[in-house]
Amino acid sequence: MKRLRQVVGQRLFEAIMKATFYGQFVAGEDQNKIRPTIDRLRSFGVKSILDYSVEEDLSQEEAEKREVSASISACGDAAEEGQLRQYHVEQRFADRRYKVTSARTYFYLNKTSCEKNMEHFLRSIEAVAGITKSTGLMAIKLTALGRPQLLLQLSEVIMRARNYMQQIAGGTGNVLTHHKTIEDFQRYFGDHGNKPEVQEFMRKITSDKEGIVHLFPWSNILDKDMNLSDSFRVPDPKTGQMRRLISQISPKEEEMFRNMLRRLNHIIMLAKDADVRVMVDAEQTYFQPAISRICLEMMRRYNKDKFVVFNTYQTYLRSTYQEILTDLEQAQRQNFYWGAKLVRGAYLEQERARAAAMGYEDPTCESVAATTSSFHRCLAEILGRVQTQGKEPRLGIMVASHNEDTVRYAIQLMKEHGIGPGDKVVCFGQLLGMCDHITFPLGQAGYSAYKYVPYGPVEEVLPYLSRRANENRGFLAKIKKEKGLLLKEIGRRLVSGQLFYKPEGRYTPV
Ligand SMILES: Cc1cc2nc3c(=O)[nH]c(=O)nc-3n(C[C@H](O)[C@H](O)[C@H](O)COP(=O)(O)OP(=O)(O)OC[C@H]3O[C@@H](n4cnc5c(N)ncnc54)[C@H](O)[C@@H]3O)c2cc1C
Repeated sequence: MKRLRQVVGQRLFEAIMKATFYGQFVAGEDQNKIRPTIDRLRSFGVKSILDYSVEEDLSQEEAEKREVSASISACGDAAEEGQLRQYHVEQRFADRRYKVTSARTYFYLNKTSCEKNMEHFLRSIEAVAGITKSTGLMAIKLTALGRPQLLLQLSEVIMRARNYMQQIAGGTGNVLTHHKTIEDFQRYFGDHGNKPEVQEFMRKITSDKEGIVHLFPWSNILDKDMNLSDSFRVPDPKTGQMRRLISQISPKEEEMFRNMLRRLNHIIMLAKDADVRVMVDAEQTYFQPAISRICLEMMRRYNKDKFVVFNTYQTYLRSTYQEILTDLEQAQRQNFYWGAKLVRGAYLEQERARAAAMGYEDPTCESVAATTSSFHRCLAEILGRVQTQGKEPRLGIMVASHNEDTVRYAIQLMKEHGIGPGDKVVCFGQLLGMCDHITFPLGQAGYSAYKYVPYGPVEEVLPYLSRRANENRGFLAKIKKEKGLLLKEIGRRLVSGQLFYKPEGRYTPV
């Protein structure tokens, strides 16, 4: 692509791209230019998820330099062994694009670049509200809104809190799954429970009649100016002394964290007012505990009466089924609408290479078959719960996959559980320019079908697109069926003299 641009010049290069690669996978440069694509999709019964897809064209060295310079000096315990190593910055994997072809990557530059990203997301909300008449959705990435290393550090704290629970209460997993009460805690601490600081810790724990929901008062942490380093302190069960689960964070870093949350809050608040739903993308496992936790908290806050925020679950991770069970329980206990996008996951090779290099357990499923069975198990679990929720279920799920068997399986489950195509409990998502033979028939059969619609200036989308080109080299080998269908249609048009035939759709999406 770079060579072509040098040879033919910028203008001709852009025209060639628009007629080929860019034109196939990207809807246009801005909110106005994408309108014809959105309208055409809608006329065939397909809705849109807008994804502002610009990516900086950084060299590997530059990306590594930025990532390492943005890392937090005190992040992680250098002597840490085992699974927690996963949440440490590692120079060898500082370029987060390593072996990632199908997801965009944001590298932290400064406050201004994060504000700019936020502005783009805000424009996307306006576009969804205007062009799609609020039937659409928008996609965001949390790493675009602040310093990603803060998410890494928060993820480590969350995992440390889980280990702490395991240490004092036994079992594994999130505190919610333990079903422990404050009285149980009192017993664990014995005489130490009378210490004022331990009492203060227990007073702040979030609990309900079924037990403890969170060890830390998350709504205060995310809402108010609560200091991160001071919030994540727990009593040592042996000594009763308070100890930090997080290393001391500087006031500047605390401020950066607040800013990241402020930006996210602003986006979601505006989306809610404009009746637009927001899907938060899932990223690498070392960010995910924090992204998921923040996302759940946003759901608790904004999904009280309707779906506003959707979290993403990557089913290639072995822990995802348990995470879903926990999050479903939290949604039920704290009474909010739970929206989820189910995907297989885009970072497989990087996850495996990083785990092997850093010496922690590979978090992904061992084979394609295991990933598929994990996807289907999660789907079955979620849909199995819909019937128990009566006429207006508070569960919404997007099956985001190009896999025909998975789409068929979802449809079969919907039938088994009496979920109608138009019930808006299950929707389907594929990328623009890929697997139209799945999305369009779904939309035309009355299912809620979406295309992920990337948009942005040619020049700024190309870095991401050129990585997608790599993916598609592998992908094209798989889509024999789609190629066959397209060739058949070209043949039909040639024979019937309809080479420039433009079908018109008269469908209305559900
Ligand atoms: C609308 C939409 C939104 C998306 N959003 C996100 C997102 O937020 N976060 C994200 O991470 N991804 C996201 N993706 C990408 C997604 O995770 C997959 O990478 C992509 O869709 C390919 O999976 P598939 O189900 O479509 O196809 P398939 O071809 O059936 O599956 C390919 C996937 O299977 C898994 N896999 C392949 N080989 C192995 C192996 N040897 N062992 C174990 N597993 C294996 C990998 O996850 C691989 O991507 C999104 C995809 C779509 C369509």
